[in-house]
Amino acid sequence: MSTGKTAKVLKTIKENETTTTVIMDVEDERFSSFRPGQFATIRIMENGEWSKPHPFTISGAPGDKLQMTIKRNGHFTSELIPALNDASQIQCAGPYGIFCKDIALKEEIVMVAGGVGITPFLSVLRHFKKTGAKNTCTLFWCNKTFADAFAASELEEMAESLKLTVIHVLSRETNPDMYYEEERPQIKFEKGHFSRDMLARHIHSTTASFYLCGPSGMQQTVVEELAAYGIAPDTVEKEAFVYNGA
Ligand SMILES: Cc1cc2nc3c(=O)[nH]c(=O)nc-3n(C[C@H](O)[C@H](O)[C@H](O)COP(=O)(O)OP(=O)(O)OC[C@H]3O[C@@H](n4cnc5c(N)ncnc54)[C@H](O)[C@@H]3O)c2cc1C
Repeated sequence: MSTGKTAKVLKTIKENETTTTVIMDVEDERFSSFRPGQFATIRIMENGEWSKPHPFTISGAPGDKLQMTIKRNGHFTSELIPALNDASQIQCAGPYGIFCKDIALKEEIVMVAGGVGITPFLSVLRHFKKTGAKNTCTLFWCNKTFADAFAASELEEMAESLKLTVIHVLSRETNPDMYYEEERPQIKFEKGHFSRDMLARHIHSTTASFYLCGPSGMQQTVVEELAAYGIAPDTVEKEAFVYNGA
């Protein structure tokens, strides 16, 4: 069985207290021609033994160096990932997965992300920016606070060149409107949890394609809210970051 290709860590970026981006060089053409939304597995050598492979979405665009944005969870993501450096031994396998497979063909796209579930959509939007895509995109990004939205500035920039509206849905901010800036009308704020009312306020299309990525509890609620708004659950393309540790 393939164990993956040797990768060299070029850089790690601490996005915030819980999330780190790792940028790697891998000698495998497939990692530069992957489809946005795909993931790869990585293994790290620890005390002379290879870890189990762990899956992470490729958060960069095709053609970029291999990039993954990883939130602390258990030992692998809390201890091994933040400690990576250019001497670390690491192996990557992939790319895998079909999430967002045909997204570039959809004229109107609605993306709903929970926390680090933004990673496939970052890849899609980074790719759209590179290619000058004309798709109309609405991104609901659900976080506890605005400080958790580590890619907020990049999304602001993207909204200047793409047909992109970003709605930050913030569950623990008492007054999220304080972040609204008149000169950036495409960056909007909502208080609470994702809801059918938010959809009604921001989505005016009946033909949009829906994509969802986030923790399983949040996915359940979002699917229910989408259904209440008239979007059939089986038409929503979903990626759950559920991993069985095999
Ligand atoms: C397709 C896919 C894409 C993903 N993309 C990303 C991404 O872009 N960014 C990101 O931060 N995370 C992503 N994840 C989640 C990520 O793989 C896990 O959070 C990570 O592997 C868990 O490592 P750990 O630190 O808990 O490891 P360990 O401490 O080694 O994990 C211990 C055990 O906890 C259990 N476990 C850990 N995480 C999960 C989980 N998510 N579901 C079920 N059981 C679990 C397993 O049994 C595992 O053996 C993705 C998962 C999948 C399946």
